[in-house]
Amino acid sequence: MQLARLIYASTHDGLAIEAVDRILQKSRANNERDGITGALIVGERSFMQLLEGDRSRVAACFMRIMQDDRHRDIRIILAGDVENRSFLEWSMHLINASRIKEEILSRYLIDGQFDPARMSEAAIKDLCQALSAGDWEKEAA
Ligand code: FAD
Repeated sequence: MQLARLIYASTHDGLAIEAVDRILQKSRANNERDGITGALIVGERSFMQLLEGDRSRVAACFMRIMQDDRHRDIRIILAGDVENRSFLEWSMHLINASRIKEEILSRYLIDGQFDPARMSEAAIKDLCQALSAGDWEKEAA
């Protein structure tokens, strides 16, 4: 198996939590079946998703995701072969951008917004590394 990683960003119109839940349930079921792991970061109007797994399975998954009209303006940020998975334990780890600790998120905001489509490749890689290391979530209020 050639392990590959793909990261894309897209926009949405403000999905209800139930809609995100449905996406997540389907994603986790399909990804477990296909040996895909990763994370889905949900912002107020944006998604950023990291998919990793067998190159052809990641490609097939991304083809389905591209046809999904629950989001648009899909842009690949980076794609390529990797040695190791960064989200080994997650068929799809949901990360709500508003729950990321300020000291982490503030490093990546552009004009005060979480806007992955405008982030540099280096910033995206850095953010993914910070999130995969764990301890990114704010304390419960
Ligand atoms: P079914 O679930 O049977 O769906 C059949 C068709 O209906 C598909 O074309 C699907 O896009 C469409 N569809 C289903 N429900 C809705 C709905 N509520 N509104 C609009 N269209 C709908 N899938 C994965 O397998 N792995 C992922 O990691 C993944 N991540 C996603 C991230 C985002 C941000 C979004 C928006 C979707 C993601 N999906 C993911 C879902 C993906 O786009 C497909 O819907 C799903 O893979 C189709 O699964 P299925 O082939 O079992 O078909």
